[in-house]
Amino acid sequence: MSNIIYKALRYSGAAWLWRETVQRGKVTFLLFHDMEAADAERNLAYLKRHYSVIGLQDYLDAVRSKTRLPRKALVITFDDGHASNRSLLPVLERLQVPVTIFLCSEVVGTQRHFWFRHNEEMKPQVESLKRIPNEERLRKLEAFGFTQEQEYSDRQALTANEIEEMKGAVDFQSHTCFHPILPQCGDSTARHEIIDSKKHLEERFQLNINTLSYPNGDYSERDIRLAKEAGYTCGVTVDSGYNGLHSDLFRLKRFSVNDAHTTEELMVKACGLYALIKHKLHKPPYGFKTSPQ
Ligand SMILES: [Zn+2]
Repeated sequence: MSNIIYKALRYSGAAWLWRETVQRGKVTFLLFHDMEAADAERNLAYLKRHYSVIGLQDYLDAVRSKTRLPRKALVITFDDGHASNRSLLPVLERLQVPVTIFLCSEVVGTQRHFWFRHNEEMKPQVESLKRIPNEERLRKLEAFGFTQEQEYSDRQALTANEIEEMKGAVDFQSHTCFHPILPQCGDSTARHEIIDSKKHLEERFQLNINTLSYPNGDYSERDIRLAKEAGYTCGVTVDSGYNGLHSDLFRLKRFSVNDAHTTEELMVKACGLYALIKHKLHKPPYGFKTSPQ
């Protein structure tokens, strides 16, 4: 079904028209996760051809100094710090495309698992596990053989060496420690996840952390307050829409493109039309989304 929508929006010229008019004066943030090298090659080349790709830090500099940004400015982000992200490096270097990768500080550099992709058996439960209190989620995950601190035989996240290798080409930022759904956490857990992830990433990898990506795009006023207290400059969501020089920096919007396997999908999702249509048709309950992690 989605493929038909992508093709219709692309070949009718609607996606093109939207990109060249509505999107032109905006700053668009895209969210990817676990993209294979071949898709990265095609997707990033497409984005570079049709947008002015800028780094997240360039956007923040422009907000600070109130300077103009290029037309169709686009910020490319990846959440989680999946092991496959290492294969992006040669593509990023060749195309000279800046990206930000948001890392789970206690999963990268270890053999720990991301809870939402621990094994095949638990995957059908992921969406319902996002909607229960954090303690209960962790208890239920134990039945699937998952605990946060345990290391497993297979690796899911980037290693410390890979982060070191990629540092020159990639802006690394925080995606909390273990990727809980923040509004489902008690105050002390939320505080630890938001504050300590920044501290650990800075100490362990000598990174300069100023941005928090809320896991699953879910956040509350409390989480924004904690992010400010921790010294972050901004927070990124998966709320649908565009950004500008006067946006609320702790509610920056992003379009989730998953890992785009076709150019139709990328074109339609990157211009924002798909998410805006979907949002109109089906508004998720406040604060929670069914988007990927
Ligand atoms: Zn995530």
